[in-house]
Amino acid sequence: DPTIEVRGLRKRYRTTVAVDGLSFTVRAGEVTGFVGPNGAGKSTTMRLILGLDSPDEGEALVNGHPYRRLRTPLTQVGALLDAAALHPGRRGRDHLLWLAQSNGLGKRRVSEVLDQVGLASAARRRAGGYSLGMQQRLGIAAALLGDPPILLFDEPVNGLDPDGIVWIRGLMRSLAAEGRAVLVSSHLMGELEETADRLVAIGRGRVVADTSVAELLAAA
Ligand code: ADP
Ligand code: ADP
Repeated sequence: DPTIEVRGLRKRYRTTVAVDGLSFTVRAGEVTGFVGPNGAGKSTTMRLILGLDSPDEGEALVNGHPYRRLRTPLTQVGALLDAAALHPGRRGRDHLLWLAQSNGLGKRRVSEVLDQVGLASAARRRAGGYSLGMQQRLGIAAALLGDPPILLFDEPVNGLDPDGIVWIRGLMRSLAAEGRAVLVSSHLMGELEETADRLVAIGRGRVVADTSVAELLAAA
């Protein structure tokens, strides 16, 4: 089953220890909420899982392998990172077509994900004119493009309106119901308790709680 295993991950930037010995597992068929205040190390952890940065110690395994060794990355792991850089002059659809082409995926898949995220009617507009919510949806479309079994979403509700927030909660639930492993971060606990099956809470780069949401609510 698709999983992410984070084992003893540590990363320091000059004087800042961003991630300080993190270990946790993200399982298939579950939404794992990754919660902690700003600066706790959530984005750094996701970047380390994706091989965008290398750890000082420990490892992050995707289906048993470091992510950068995987072939056809978009079909293995989909990711929405908050620093998703969109070329402002490029049309939404062209952004996805370019990604599809560079990953050996067909055009039909581009139309499917545009429908799935509700951007079909805006797909021919330039990304520079997109609202923050539309940019988020385009980033989510890119994450879904390769139909990956594992998905990482860094603060996905940022910039979304209330309808968009309800939509993304439903999307997370349905991705998990399809058997995918979903890791979603937020600095707000309340945002995750309705969506997540498990919560991994971090502070100053360390796990402070790792629990099922049902257990947590039963203890409240
Ligand atoms: P979160 O995603 O939980 O807000 P981050 O992972 O972005 O936390 O950041 C964790 C800590 O590491 C913060 O103190 C942040 O300023 C620092 N940090 C993150 N990336 C870098 C970097 N590239 N260079 C220096 N410091 C960084
Ligand atoms: P987040 O929304 O997770 O808090 P940040 O705004 O902290 O994200 O980080 C955005 C980008 O800037 C990331 O690529 C991160 O690695 C980098 N970064 C964060 N903090 C620092 C820092 N103190 N010095 C240099 N780069 C940083």
